[in-house]
Amino acid sequence: MKLIYPLARPNISKKEERNVLSVLRSGTLSIGPFVEEFEKKFAKAVGSKYACAVSSGTAGLHIALVAAGIGEGDEVITSPFSFIASSNSILYTGARPVFVDVDPLTYNIDPSKIEEKITRRTKAIMPVHIFGQLCDMHEIMRIAKKHKLIVIEDACESLKATYRGKQAGTFGQSGVFAFYANKQMTTGEGGMLVTDDKHIYELAKSLRNQGRAPNMQWLDHDRLGFNYRMDEMSAALGVAQLEQLALSIRERKKIAAWYEKHLRPYRQFVTTPKVAPGNSHTYFVYVVQIRPAGRRRDAVIEKLGKRGIGSKPYLPSIHLFSFYKKLLGTKRGDFPISENVSDHTLALPIYVGLTEKDIRRIVATLISIL
Ligand SMILES: *Cc1c(COP(=O)(O)O)cnc(C)c1O
Repeated sequence: MKLIYPLARPNISKKEERNVLSVLRSGTLSIGPFVEEFEKKFAKAVGSKYACAVSSGTAGLHIALVAAGIGEGDEVITSPFSFIASSNSILYTGARPVFVDVDPLTYNIDPSKIEEKITRRTKAIMPVHIFGQLCDMHEIMRIAKKHKLIVIEDACESLKATYRGKQAGTFGQSGVFAFYANKQMTTGEGGMLVTDDKHIYELAKSLRNQGRAPNMQWLDHDRLGFNYRMDEMSAALGVAQLEQLALSIRERKKIAAWYEKHLRPYRQFVTTPKVAPGNSHTYFVYVVQIRPAGRRRDAVIEKLGKRGIGSKPYLPSIHLFSFYKKLLGTKRGDFPISENVSDHTLALPIYVGLTEKDIRRIVATLISIL
């Protein structure tokens, strides 16, 4: 059945069409001017010195870790309540992800539980700013400094979100964003690594391009690299999407406020997102908790779908995926808060174009099902 309200929908204007068409007509489909323009404008938009465009958010996280020198035998502290890419990128390097349970209100990594997981092998912390809200970066940066750990931010869900006025992706050594079609802005597939560290930036540019030595053209490859380049069509799309980013964020905040307003009378069934003090949330997804629940949440999703409303569990805990259970020996009970959130949450439609009337209709349907 075709959904009346999908979970997400990209907002593509004439400018995007024109930009992509101009690339197709130019003949330069890769390594061209749009990637450079996109990087410059993106760095400015997030308040970072350098930006390196890559083929996906996952690729960006991978090279951020490699550039930080993370590899075999190292441990990286991260959250089990995330999209699997954050943890997978750690495994790609040969390092081991070490999970720390989350805060029950924000679903972000709980800094008070980090220090007990630090060992001699710990090299980095990868906080994941989940759903559009930053982690407690004040505490995380304090702990990182105390234990001399590198911080790599998975900011893939939190473009333009701020903590105490500072943007996601600008606290750590590097920050990574993603542009899959459901994110705050899209390039189809794509990602961006941002950093203020020139050395990390140059390493990242080399790593995305087969390890080619910087500014040496074909003369030398001085390290093992990858092909993680972003193509020109994606970058052209990204340049146009950047111009719409303020609108996208404004609309998401407005829709979230409508949900909050119309769900408020039903607090006994539905818990709405909590924004922690000092944070500005940019709502990559709008996630509510259904109570009381257990299996009921999945039935609610199914019924919403039958009535034309897209919805999904957001998110399953990574440590309970079969591959992770086998690899790391993790099991149910290891991270009870993350598991509890995973069992009760669902995402509701949020994208540019939804009106207050639409939100009223979605809420009415949800409440009638409950
Ligand atoms: C989207 C996302 C990524 C990156 O995803 P790609 O599909 O590789 O661009 C990484 N981490 C989180 C938390 C994400 O939501």
